[in-house]
Amino acid sequence: MPELPEVETTVRGLATVLDGQVIARVQMNRADLRRPFPVDLAQALTGARVTGMGRRAKYGLIHTDRARTMVFHLGMSGRWRIDPEDIGKHDHLVLETGEGRVLALNDARRFGSVDLVDSDALDAWRPFAALGPEPLGDGLTAKYLAAAFKDRIAAVKLLLLDQRIVAGLGNIYVCEALNRAGIHPEREGGKVSRKALDRLVPLIREVLNEAIAAGGSTLRDYVQPDGELGYFAKDWRVYGREGEACTCGGTVLRIAQGGRSSFFCAKCQK
Ligand SMILES: [Zn+2]
Repeated sequence: MPELPEVETTVRGLATVLDGQVIARVQMNRADLRRPFPVDLAQALTGARVTGMGRRAKYGLIHTDRARTMVFHLGMSGRWRIDPEDIGKHDHLVLETGEGRVLALNDARRFGSVDLVDSDALDAWRPFAALGPEPLGDGLTAKYLAAAFKDRIAAVKLLLLDQRIVAGLGNIYVCEALNRAGIHPEREGGKVSRKALDRLVPLIREVLNEAIAAGGSTLRDYVQPDGELGYFAKDWRVYGREGEACTCGGTVLRIAQGGRSSFFCAKCQK
């Protein structure tokens, strides 16, 4: 399932082909993904120039000179293919640039989505309106987290996964950042010290940037015929390593929290 770093590398990869280009052709091979494509999608994008690209939480943003932004979500299995040799049955949306480059949004399970949003109203768009700050942006600080966690008895792990507190942080990255910061995932949010939060914030950025760098290093291979953007494997310190050794010499444990696995080390995470 694509997480924030995969979406970020997907956007960066798409930008190499799409940013500044005119969208010459829009082809929809079905009417919907998780929900219907906007009825005016082809009309709104055909002939539009891409003026910039970005990401908010796990959504990719394609801004156009028509003051509208195409917002895509990759769902569980979505991916963009650049200049695919063939258009397959899971390539539900195909864009062609004025330069003849072809971008296919491929989504076998169709949990993804495509929307058109007025560019100047993006912040108020319903899925974005309640989101917390971006973990890689200036809004995420130890001071902010201290205020958000104040008096909360919920586990710090679950609070960090709450999109209203921090946007787009996934399970892997929360597990890793808590391990590196020496914070037990079950610690009550309100009882995480300011000093620990001071450690945590840069480590959240560190694990995300490592993942983005891992995606970026494989990106060169992806921007080729039939390349797929955005999926990569990376070795983590605790995630998926139950029973293995932590860097401190302790043993990585796995527990369930909020229906998901938490990997942590009881020796160095307090
Ligand atoms: Zn440890």
